[in-house]
Amino acid sequence: MYPFTFTKASDTRDALNAGQRGGRYIAGGTTLVDLMRETVERPETLVDISDLPLREITVTERGGLRIGALVRMAEAAAHTTVRTTYPVISQALELSASAQLRNMATIGGNIMQRTRCTYFRDVTAACNKRDPGSGCAAQDGFNRTHAILGTSESCVATHPSDAAVALAALEATVHLLGPNGERGIPFADFLLRPGSTPNREQALRRGELITAVEIPSHPRPLKSGYLKVRDRQSYEFALTSVAVALHIRGGVVREARVAAGGVGTVPWKLPAVERRLIGERPSDRLWTEAAQQAAEGARPLEHNRFKVELLKRTVERQLRVVGGTK
Ligand code: SF4
Repeated sequence: MYPFTFTKASDTRDALNAGQRGGRYIAGGTTLVDLMRETVERPETLVDISDLPLREITVTERGGLRIGALVRMAEAAAHTTVRTTYPVISQALELSASAQLRNMATIGGNIMQRTRCTYFRDVTAACNKRDPGSGCAAQDGFNRTHAILGTSESCVATHPSDAAVALAALEATVHLLGPNGERGIPFADFLLRPGSTPNREQALRRGELITAVEIPSHPRPLKSGYLKVRDRQSYEFALTSVAVALHIRGGVVREARVAAGGVGTVPWKLPAVERRLIGERPSDRLWTEAAQQAAEGARPLEHNRFKVELLKRTVERQLRVVGGTK
């Protein structure tokens, strides 16, 4: 470790002021403290925001579900409305990390967490995300767990969050507060693909604070679920995962929301799969045909070619689980 300043924000204004001066927000600390120990991150000032009033889960006037940024992962997973209305979120959270980490980590921190690329965490390795311009050791290194979608010459790291995949599928909004006031940003625009600047990961302005994520109301009830495929059944990141939410009425798929994890540099929405489903009658054939669209545009690396087929099979299986078999 190295010397740094630690302050505790007494209120939101206090936090924003500290953030404007370059302070890094910390709440559960389950990612940032690890990275500081490994000297991957070296913030000069930490601003503890744990006491800010951002720990509520509420149904909004518009009928959406608003989850405060400081709600713990375990709290969100166990919340009655989340469990009953959006089981895909509960399942994604419960398949993440360990019970101890879920009791500490917050929703805001979860979507902000940084990649598990081993080269990113090895300060002796070339890594454009950690050290812009230094190169990318994963391109010609061991890249079995890396991304096949949304990659660039600069970076091929996956985004590690499971909850973010569910939020992407449900087309959530991220609510932010900054010196110039509040704004909401679609989840699809919040996390950035690497392009030539993989060190820039979120569309946050200096000092902005995540206050909540909001899942829009769905007038038609969605049946949903999350499937995660990994090397071991506990405490492991996804090789592939998929969040599926469907509305089926009168024997026809009326709405479809599908996103994948473990394969993209950001949680990967699958619009081609969604389009193939809409207006069709559920059947094994439909699930199989729709899943074939899942890896559209994939650019596998030397060691992760298996993810192309695994992604299709993961999508097919979860469509069948959520949509039923006919
Ligand atoms: Fe760094 Fe990204 Fe390359 Fe990993 S894949 S070494 S995070 S630049």
